[in-house]
Amino acid sequence: MKLGCVADDYTGATDLAGLLRRSGASVKLHFGLPKTPSDGLADIEIVALKCRTEPVDQAISDCADAAHWLLAGGANQLYWKYCSTFDSTAEGNIGPVAEALMAVTGQTQALYCPAFPENGRAVFMGHLFVADQLLNESSMKDHPLTPMDDANLARVLAPQVKGSVGIWNRVDQKQGMPIPDAIHIIGDAVEFADLEFLIENTPRNVLLTGGSALAMPLPNHLGIASTHQVGDPKPDSRALILSGSCSQMTQQQVAEYAVNHPSYQLHPENLGEATIQDCVNWLQSLQSTETPLVFATASPEAVKAAQSALGVTEAGAIIERAMAQIAQKAFEMGVRRFVVAGGETSGAVTQALQVSEVMIGREICPGVPWVFSGSDSNLVGLALKSGNFGSPSFFSDALALLED
Ligand code: ADP
Repeated sequence: MKLGCVADDYTGATDLAGLLRRSGASVKLHFGLPKTPSDGLADIEIVALKCRTEPVDQAISDCADAAHWLLAGGANQLYWKYCSTFDSTAEGNIGPVAEALMAVTGQTQALYCPAFPENGRAVFMGHLFVADQLLNESSMKDHPLTPMDDANLARVLAPQVKGSVGIWNRVDQKQGMPIPDAIHIIGDAVEFADLEFLIENTPRNVLLTGGSALAMPLPNHLGIASTHQVGDPKPDSRALILSGSCSQMTQQQVAEYAVNHPSYQLHPENLGEATIQDCVNWLQSLQSTETPLVFATASPEAVKAAQSALGVTEAGAIIERAMAQIAQKAFEMGVRRFVVAGGETSGAVTQALQVSEVMIGREICPGVPWVFSGSDSNLVGLALKSGNFGSPSFFSDALALLED
């Protein structure tokens, strides 16, 4: 293994895996910290955690364990991956985990660049843009767990870390200025060439952290890019879509898919065993050739109402538990293709299906590959999409790609 990555949620990890796979390097993705040591055979290994919204101490210890595991497996370069919208709170976990990983590797600085030009995420003068909107004016302001109310990443990061925060801005980069002296540095990047510049010009004493796109130049840089590509496996065709993301794009995707396909809405205020059973009965009543959609996706107003009735954590947890149970039942019914919208939701579903390690397949859209686990009759394909990714036709696009 040449490159070891720690990712803070499951969809983010599959996004990273898909982009790195484009290089032709072999990529193995683990959901959760593996219990046995790495065989070190894959060029790149990624440990996906569910630590984006964990208590800070827990996130630090989980990520440090993952870093030790990767280094023990032979990684000579570490990468800390978080969301391209810098999802975090004043407590963390982006900054505290970076500090913990620096302590593990002995690196003295950390570079932060969530830019993902292909998906419209750009950082300029330390400010994060989502397409043409500042982060705090984008739909991220309404995120159920990590609402982002400031686009200035230096200001967002400062309360999370102990050391100084600086910006390596694009104007200075163009003039050949080296990385600033601060401990924590926000790196500007607007286009892919900027990401290549950052990777080529960041010294070894600097921990690399960012969205998935900053890692893209690494396979070339580390000499593990390859032209050898293998085909995707084909799981049995019965499929189910589960959507627990409430992002604006997912709302569009759900609305578009529900027009022509059977769909079932879950409401957190009314989601006991009886409702889950009702949903399962409904799935059983459908033709196996139909791909149904089960969704909790709702407007910001509906999410706020559920959260004030149940509490933020409990509202999310109720949905996640229900999605997990429904996925298990669907698997028992023979479903082998799962399209899941939502980072937390994907974590709950993959855990429920006891998927711990996957091979990376073709991308459905930038940042969302199909991934495959198991073999023979237990071969399962998963498309794990974080909230804002994909176009309005994502669900149909995902299903169609496996029909190719
Ligand atoms: P995203 O990738 O868009 O951030 P996540 O699945 O990570 O999606 O997060 C969405 C969170 O919102 C989950 O915890 C989910 O259970 C929760 N949620 C989904 N639907 C509702 C709803 N109707 N009301 C309240 N919370 C919800």
